[in-house]
Amino acid sequence: MELPSLVSESAGTVTRFAPSPTGLLHLGHAWSAAFAHRAAREAGGRFLLRIENIDASRCRPEFEAAIREDLRWLGVEWDGEVRRQSEHMADYAAALAQLTELGVVYPCFCTRKDILAEIAGAGHAPHGPDGPVYPGTCRRLDRGEREARIAAGEPHALRLDVAAALRRTGPLAFHDRARGRLAADPMRHGDVVLARKDTPTSYHLAVTVDDALQGVTLVTRGEDLLPATDIHRLLQALLGLPVPEYHHHRLLAGPDGRRFAKRDRSLTIRALREAGHDPAAVMDMAAGRRRLTVPG
Ligand code: GLU
Repeated sequence: MELPSLVSESAGTVTRFAPSPTGLLHLGHAWSAAFAHRAAREAGGRFLLRIENIDASRCRPEFEAAIREDLRWLGVEWDGEVRRQSEHMADYAAALAQLTELGVVYPCFCTRKDILAEIAGAGHAPHGPDGPVYPGTCRRLDRGEREARIAAGEPHALRLDVAAALRRTGPLAFHDRARGRLAADPMRHGDVVLARKDTPTSYHLAVTVDDALQGVTLVTRGEDLLPATDIHRLLQALLGLPVPEYHHHRLLAGPDGRRFAKRDRSLTIRALREAGHDPAAVMDMAAGRRRLTVPG
């Protein structure tokens, strides 16, 4: 993939915060954003904001506006333009074309129901980090059938043939600041979706392409996304993209010991602000330095 010269010439640490505007930011997000922000500022580098809004059915403009407002209020200021994924579909299409050219992408006509039936019929279902692994049904279709079904307008997703991809790249690894060198194990995910029936890209593809195009050198995010890095590393190798360093950080737990999630409405930055807390107090709560005072 061609990278803008600006990216290859830029030096120093570049981090990013990449929320999806599907709800209000909560304390877990505040912590994650501040983590990336601090890593950039301490290194004299740049901190970027990216809005991951490829899923049009779940993303809302009001949540996007709230993200910007909450981050500014918290003092987490980003550098330069905000990248909104919905405006960059052509970049993802170009990467997909490149992968198709390599022969590591295939159309998948399966519905969710087909996949569950196939798994049930097989008697055993390997589980990946995100649930049952795709059994590879459509990987086994021959070229003629693929072409005929596409020509007939049958809806399909595009999947990565992970085994074929790994045969091209060989074994892969990445460096995590908290864990050292880690081997990437994309096989445990099965053939992941690169483009969905309703959206011509996917989380894995968009994140990998964006991090490269934005010149991100240090990807910081919650450790729940550590397994996803297996796939991102594979896509980088296939697309000839630079490999950033990673720092997967711990996830914050709420007062009940459970992770923060969008369901915890009272712990949104907005609710805490409206309850009269100032930004420093909210950051202290996010960092666990101050007891949570849950409004209402
Ligand atoms: N958009 C993802 C999320 O909100 C984060 C993506 C990433 O940091 O790689 O969970």
